[in-house]
Amino acid sequence: DQPVEHYRSSTPKSGSLYERAAAVMPGGDTRSVTYHDPYPSFVASGSGCRLRTEDGETLLDFLNNYTQSVLGHAPPAVVEAVTERFERGNGFGAPTTEAVALAERLVDRVPSVEQVRFANSGTEATMNAIRGAMAYTGNETILKIEGGYHGTHDTVEVAVDATGREHQGIPRDVEDRVLTTPFNDPEALKEAFATAGDDIACFILEPLMGVAGGLPADESFLHTARDLTEDHGVPLVFDEVMTFRLGYGGAQERYGVTPDLTAFGKFIGGGLPVGAFGGREDIMSVFHPHEGVADHSGTFNANPATMAGGIATLDALDEAAITDLNRLGDRLRAGVREVAADHDHPLRVTGDGSMFQLHLTDETVTDWASSAAGTEAFEDLFLAMRNRGVFMAPRGMGNLSTPMTDAEVDTFLETLDAALDALPE
Ligand code: PLP
Repeated sequence: DQPVEHYRSSTPKSGSLYERAAAVMPGGDTRSVTYHDPYPSFVASGSGCRLRTEDGETLLDFLNNYTQSVLGHAPPAVVEAVTERFERGNGFGAPTTEAVALAERLVDRVPSVEQVRFANSGTEATMNAIRGAMAYTGNETILKIEGGYHGTHDTVEVAVDATGREHQGIPRDVEDRVLTTPFNDPEALKEAFATAGDDIACFILEPLMGVAGGLPADESFLHTARDLTEDHGVPLVFDEVMTFRLGYGGAQERYGVTPDLTAFGKFIGGGLPVGAFGGREDIMSVFHPHEGVADHSGTFNANPATMAGGIATLDALDEAAITDLNRLGDRLRAGVREVAADHDHPLRVTGDGSMFQLHLTDETVTDWASSAAGTEAFEDLFLAMRNRGVFMAPRGMGNLSTPMTDAEVDTFLETLDAALDALPE
């Protein structure tokens, strides 16, 4: 049985929904990452760590909407908090207590964040963190990591396509203002600062590269970044949209490096659209509505139901929950290495804590380019696992949620073993 035929025959309803979708949405979807060949399956509902597809299948969810559903799907405390808040009206053109309470939680958890503002996506979070850094420094050049993904606004869409394809629709002069440097390469970083340090508005990076390979930064690289940015008066921006789940105070706590600004997103809105950015008070003050020099607004910023969902989620994701998630992640990575040793396919795993990525490649995966090497081949393995009831990103990324236990990790490993057996050599 070929994986694609098997998939088509078990997902006829998703197939016809996709035909309907493709008639009214280009490519049949509105997210580039959710598509895979021959068509993605449609999900009807989620509960705990399981999804129910429109075709009536149950899938173990190791994607969690790209790290968003850290508590799994429809966690009762979050559903209750969001519903209760929504029933009292939602969106008033005036602040609510929930925004203050969620801001206080972020400030309490993350010492580098003295002040914070809310937005509606991780894209808006990084966009405004960068804007704040530009307003604060008066500089317009941004330094980012090759392949670093920070959402879809113009500045950060530079150097994100491993195929070298240029994304159209972005003014070409944006590229002139964006410098890139390779991941985990302190010498190249020193060089970049020696050449352009005094013109840089900020250096933005993920402490663990998420979609660019599941690659943790070396702590020495982060320390070099901290020292160089400090020496040049350049704000260091951590994109913790995904990595906040790695520690109670985010990856910055786990890796022991303090940025000036941080971008948040994903689970901090309890499953509703959200972003937030925060950091040093003197930088964040550029956004003061009357006294500041930069503008930030939005109809849905600090939406009350979103804030209520975020509060309930952060309260559930305590130190113990994070420790447990990270332990399960270690177990999964160790298990993958054992499975890989039993097969001829060149399988590797990267990641840290509750985030992981599988790579079908012979090369050691150290950066964006080596990570991209195996992603196309991975789609076959993805489909073979999907056909056996385990869902993850078509390009190999995965992560864990709190309803998962050792049993779900075992199922993942057994499924991986069986899927590799079924893959053509
Ligand atoms: N930054 C990182 C590290 C991300 O992984 C993402 C999304 O996956 C974003 C920013 C953008 O967030 P959003 O999709 O909410 O705009």
